[in-house]
Amino acid sequence: ADWAAAVAAVRGLSADARVLMICHVNPDGDALGSMLGFGLGLRRLGVRQLQATFPGPPELPESFGWLPGLDLLVPERAAYPDPDLVICFDAASESRLGDLVDRLAVAGTTLVLDHHASNTRFGRIDLVDPHAAATSVLAEGLLARLGVPLDAEIAACLYVALSTDTGSFRFDATTPAVHELAARLLATGIRPGDISRRIFDTRPFGAVRLFGEVLGRARLDPAAAGGRGLVWTVATLDDLARYDQPPHVLESLIDSIRVTAEAEVSCVVKQVAAEEWSVSLRSKGAVDVSRAAVVLGGGGHRFAAGFTGRGSADEVMDRVRAALDGALLPA
Ligand code: 5GP
Ligand code: MN
Ligand code: MN
Repeated sequence: ADWAAAVAAVRGLSADARVLMICHVNPDGDALGSMLGFGLGLRRLGVRQLQATFPGPPELPESFGWLPGLDLLVPERAAYPDPDLVICFDAASESRLGDLVDRLAVAGTTLVLDHHASNTRFGRIDLVDPHAAATSVLAEGLLARLGVPLDAEIAACLYVALSTDTGSFRFDATTPAVHELAARLLATGIRPGDISRRIFDTRPFGAVRLFGEVLGRARLDPAAAGGRGLVWTVATLDDLARYDQPPHVLESLIDSIRVTAEAEVSCVVKQVAAEEWSVSLRSKGAVDVSRAAVVLGGGGHRFAAGFTGRGSADEVMDRVRAALDGALLPA
């Protein structure tokens, strides 16, 4: 990771420089938390012309509605037409930026903060570390090198990001350095219980019942994934409509289904349009689901990946099973 170039790019900004921050489509806690936390830090540094945005629908899950720094967000089309610096958070490739990729071309320079192994190094300056547990680790590292002290607002954003991508400090990416960063964030006085409840443990009753129905239809394929087992389910737009829920409530469904003891791999197929599906894949360690996702046109991490599939849900699942058989890791 090119820290010196990243520090120089920020330090070299003039007082009236325009900075645009962007992150991947359907922003998760890491994308949004690292972007807003870093943005609050830039504001403390005196960067005044500062905007943040993300591609796709502008609505955010209610669980993020309390995040500090939301005032940095502008609707995509209102974002600076000619930023001096574009900073991109948590996106492995330009394909994750939707309509916003054209902002990269008009920027004076571009800085990419990311931690996906599949990152295509599409920035002028790439701060990319596949060993980082979250993009927020890189955001905090850069803020520290810029001399920006952590405060409770910055820390809340970065804590959301870190706890999201480590599965609340449960995944193997949870290194001593991750806990040390968490300790520095907590030392600002943020309340982890409140934050976790808002981010992970709050959903409308309609969503609880929707989960019940969709999980009730889950299927187990013991022969899939080289005999290690696959558990999967499909959620349609009609399911969402019946329970009057927005699409993003389904994002945590994968965490409910992946507990299945009999399956190495779990999969949720979420309908986006008539013949378009957003597919989430998780593995427990024996299968590289990012390899399967890349084959199917997507990407992600070794044990958490996704792609967009076309056709019927059954066709998409047939392709998933075929791709998983080619994604077994050596024992
Ligand atoms: P999720 O299942 O939570 O939506 O995504 C899990 C991981 O897979 C994320 O880290 C994200 O980077 C990656 N991912 C999900 N969907 C896509 C996609 O359509 N394309 C790419 N390249 N990556 C994806
Ligand atoms: Mn992300
Ligand atoms: Mn991330």
